Amino acid sequence: MTVQTSPRRVAASRPIPFARTVIGPEARSAVARVLESGWVTTGQEVVEFEREFADYVGASRGVAVSSCTAGLELALRGLGLAPGSRVLMSTNTFCGAAGAITHAGLVPVLADVDPWSAVPTEDLIRAAVREVGGVSAMVVVHLGGRPVDVEAAAAAAGIGLDRVIEDAAHALGTEVGSQRVGSISRATCFSFYATKNLAIGEGGMVTTSDDDFAETLVRTRLHGMSRDAWRRYTPGASWRYDVADDGLKANLTDVQAAIGRAQLRRFDADQARRVELAARYDAQLAGLPSISLPPRPVEGRHAWHLYAVRIQPGFPVSRDELIDRLSALGIGSSVHFIPLHRLTWHVNHCVVPAGGLPGADRVFEGTLSLPFDQNMTDDDVDEVCAALRQIGSAR
Ligand SMILES: *Cc1c(COP(=O)(O)O)cnc(C)c1O
Repeated sequence: MTVQTSPRRVAASRPIPFARTVIGPEARSAVARVLESGWVTTGQEVVEFEREFADYVGASRGVAVSSCTAGLELALRGLGLAPGSRVLMSTNTFCGAAGAITHAGLVPVLADVDPWSAVPTEDLIRAAVREVGGVSAMVVVHLGGRPVDVEAAAAAAGIGLDRVIEDAAHALGTEVGSQRVGSISRATCFSFYATKNLAIGEGGMVTTSDDDFAETLVRTRLHGMSRDAWRRYTPGASWRYDVADDGLKANLTDVQAAIGRAQLRRFDADQARRVELAARYDAQLAGLPSISLPPRPVEGRHAWHLYAVRIQPGFPVSRDELIDRLSALGIGSSVHFIPLHRLTWHVNHCVVPAGGLPGADRVFEGTLSLPFDQNMTDDDVDEVCAALRQIGSAR
């Protein structure tokens, strides 16, 4: 008797989303405790979160904010640059950073990226700076969690580290050499958006080792007021305040901070799992023609926020069609990023070099971020790889 074997089914046995947010039992009970306390907006819980977070990244201060984008804007305003000053940034990043620059009254200058690493090399930084005759500051992004040498980037831009703001939305846990991101430049901005490595849902943190800068951020995250509500409403405290700075309304609540503290306690374990999952993807995809693995850092530590492969021209279907085919199998994916010079608003408000940004265009054509979060199972990874293998072998 012969056994009929059916070809291996690769339809995902369950939907595998691009990323899942898990708010665990510790975070939920911490939220309940805050809700019962009668104080739900910025208060003691935020103070504790700021301290624990700054300790984790090795900075002297943490200032909790409503989002990474708000943190970038506040940090850029805090540099006190003349209106219209130029700020260098990669074209291959999230649009929020460019908005932060323009909201701060500054002008984004877009740098091209290396087709392999997808970030600006020192040569590309020098070329972008030469084209505009100098920049006053720079936003450095550790794309996907892979470390960028911040000091070398600053030197190439002709500015000091005190004029560098890091967009570390992907980079909690990233190390440049042996230095943790968060303690390197003037200010580093983290995101706690739902898909980030440390997820609260929404929220952000700016870390700095400049106390005066931190105090400015503490005021400007809340209208520029010299004393926040928590300090004004404590018994015996003064109701008076002054407004000496032009601020935003961008504070974090105690409810969010309670979730953040619980997520920070499990962060190292979550990161260890991300490292395992990245290695599992690497091992299974290594033999596939026309798919390039994400670049590994030469030194330092990758935080593995994203697992982004590159679909090469020899792959049987385009990147866009691949996204549709994966989606039909219940597998989510994403693209990081649509370069800023391809977005309508940004192309009109950023300085784009006359020769275009061909490296970023090449990266954009082929880049694909596969499902990735610390809660994936080995089977999830295997199913995604089986799907890529099947689609990649069709003709
Ligand atoms: C998510 C993200 C941001 C924005 O973070 P928010 O907290 O949502 O403001 C900024 N930069 C990069 C690179 C991001 O991926």
